[in-house]
Amino acid sequence: MQNKIIRASSLSDFADCQRRMITRQYPDIISQVVAPRETPENIAAITGTAVHKAAETMLNDKRDTGSISISRSIEAGVSELNRQLADAAGNTAFDDTTRDQSTAEKQVKKMAGAYEPLARDIETEYTELHLTARLPGGWKSSGHIDVYGHGVPRDTKTGKMKSVHIFQAGNYLLLLKANKYTISDKTWIDFIRRVPVSKSQPPIESSFYNSHVAMKAAEIVIRRVMWTIEDFEKNGKIENIPANPMSMMCSDRYCPAHSTELCKYGKC
Ligand code: SF4
Repeated sequence: MQNKIIRASSLSDFADCQRRMITRQYPDIISQVVAPRETPENIAAITGTAVHKAAETMLNDKRDTGSISISRSIEAGVSELNRQLADAAGNTAFDDTTRDQSTAEKQVKKMAGAYEPLARDIETEYTELHLTARLPGGWKSSGHIDVYGHGVPRDTKTGKMKSVHIFQAGNYLLLLKANKYTISDKTWIDFIRRVPVSKSQPPIESSFYNSHVAMKAAEIVIRRVMWTIEDFEKNGKIENIPANPMSMMCSDRYCPAHSTELCKYGKC
């Protein structure tokens, strides 16, 4: 297997539905049995990336110049949104909260605005800090940490609903530790809710995990990912990889195993 990389951002997906994560992250392995489907780009991820760009611009400007331009940051976010939608070339799955590009643009502006108070409050050394670390068996761990400053990592999340991010947050801490960065006893998640444009934008919600607990949780999931793939490589049995049809993402929009022989739970 060439692609022996475990991405921190994929660990929450693994905890939710192991088979979906393995199919999405390691299509070269899964294709030995059945080729996964292509899934459309989803608007939740696209708006999230755009808001990340706006937040990154605020934090970098504050660190480098001492001030924040909200209009410049929003412009960076909206440009990112439009670039991604253009790249998707019409293959974007919009949803009930974001029905079209114009709505997405308004939401990105409001969500970026919700980040501003936090950007004014925190001190940043690095944004989008890319780190890797060796794992046993020739595996490698990789991740991009949204924000790091004076021992404190922060991850920005956007979406209609909050979800569990302890595994990803823990993996970031493991990467920081492996690369000799200082880590504090808390790791933060900054959540910005995506709401219909007819509703007012809720403020950002910041919460934290205990760093020790998060690292332990991540270590367990990472070991499980390695074991699951190595087991699949030996026996080729997709049915041995647990699937969770109760997942909120069990849909042909999000899952490349859905509506294929890779998962009998997938329904059209
Ligand atoms: S179809 Fe549903 S249960 Fe099956 S792998 Fe995809 S998300 Fe998991």
